[in-house]
Amino acid sequence: MAKLRTVKGMNDVLPGEIERWHRLEQAFRDRAERYGFAEVRTPLVEHTELFERGIGEATDIVDKEMYTFTDKAGEGKSGKRLTLRPEGTASCVRAYLQHNVQGQEPVTKWYYLGPMYRRERPAKGRYRQFYQAGCEVYGDPGPYVDAELIDMLVGLLGELGVRDVEVLINSLGGATTRTRYREALLAYLRPRAAELSEDSQRRLERNPLRVLDSKAPQDQEIAAGAPRVLDFLSDEDAAHFDGLRATLDALGTPYTVEPRLVRGLDYYTRTLFEVRGRGGELGAQNALCGGGRYDDMIAQLGGKPTPAIGFALGIERLLLAMGPADAEAGLDAFLAAQRPEDRPAVLVLARTLREAGLRVETDLRGNSLKSQLRRADKSGARFAVVLGEAEQTQGTAKVTDLRQQNAERREIPQAELVEALRA
Ligand code: AMP
Repeated sequence: MAKLRTVKGMNDVLPGEIERWHRLEQAFRDRAERYGFAEVRTPLVEHTELFERGIGEATDIVDKEMYTFTDKAGEGKSGKRLTLRPEGTASCVRAYLQHNVQGQEPVTKWYYLGPMYRRERPAKGRYRQFYQAGCEVYGDPGPYVDAELIDMLVGLLGELGVRDVEVLINSLGGATTRTRYREALLAYLRPRAAELSEDSQRRLERNPLRVLDSKAPQDQEIAAGAPRVLDFLSDEDAAHFDGLRATLDALGTPYTVEPRLVRGLDYYTRTLFEVRGRGGELGAQNALCGGGRYDDMIAQLGGKPTPAIGFALGIERLLLAMGPADAEAGLDAFLAAQRPEDRPAVLVLARTLREAGLRVETDLRGNSLKSQLRRADKSGARFAVVLGEAEQTQGTAKVTDLRQQNAERREIPQAELVEALRA
């Protein structure tokens, strides 16, 4: 019989590896909360229409990467089209509108963390189920908050040891700028259409901006000579972009202006940014994080016009950039029973230590003391703690420091054990 395996492009994360995930997730949560964000959790499944309207039908994601299915129909009804969420922003906006958060506070700051689904070609750093951590701010037009978000991200990466990064920024301007730029870009690209890659030819009329970040060499050559969106910014858009740059300068956050940065989602307005990594095991998938402003989306999805900005960080990619793991904190103590009748007392003591916050393991399958101690050694625990007849009558425990060679065994009163094992 064929072995059962994960779906292509979807991965298990096993103990041994998950500790690094926890470290990253905790660092993200802590930092987001220090910056005033609160967590929101939305379902993994949404109505397909949310992504079609929110992300845009001309994007690769909506066009060909979504996991969409028809739900079972109720009696006399047709089934609804549902989609596994390919990103977090559209769901957050849906929740923001559905719960009328807009009417309750002027500025809302949310973060989220969880799996996303895109049917992309799997490669190192590119999966069909992957995790994102993201932040969204509603109600603040920027540009200060734009710079603050970017700075917060760079701080997070630095805290996780990822310092070899490049921050790219660009502005796509507002809706009018975009329309004017689109026309100019099309006027430049149309006569060169035959020289573009097949993908770009297909995209040309629907989504000409995407030609700019194509990886195909012939496209890159043509893109190099294309008109620059920054030359098309309205006065207000230009002032916003200048404000972003001045604030990043004041914060001391290094960045590079990249006028060809467009990114794959249709909803961006004005500020756009991407953080690329250079170190670790990243390879070709070097975009760690992407984000930008989407000032029109809330109105497009039926809300009162509200400025918004957000970013999403790819957790698997960040883990690759972080490089190999440091040694993780292991067990504090391994408890062993001298005789079979000592086993219940071992469990009572183990519970007391665990309640006090220590990491404790036992092996009470019925093995000899010697074999329990062998497991204690292998477990990486700091201390071995043995209970026997003498210890039980005296209310003590025998403690050995497993990290010291030839460590002496100390007899410690059980009441002092928590303190002794913490040392
Ligand atoms: P996006 O939602 O496309 O703006 O992507 C934001 C970040 O999510 C990227 O910079 C990547 O780090 C990560 N990401 C996007 N797609 C994938 C994928 N298929 N596999 C792994 N990470 C991804």
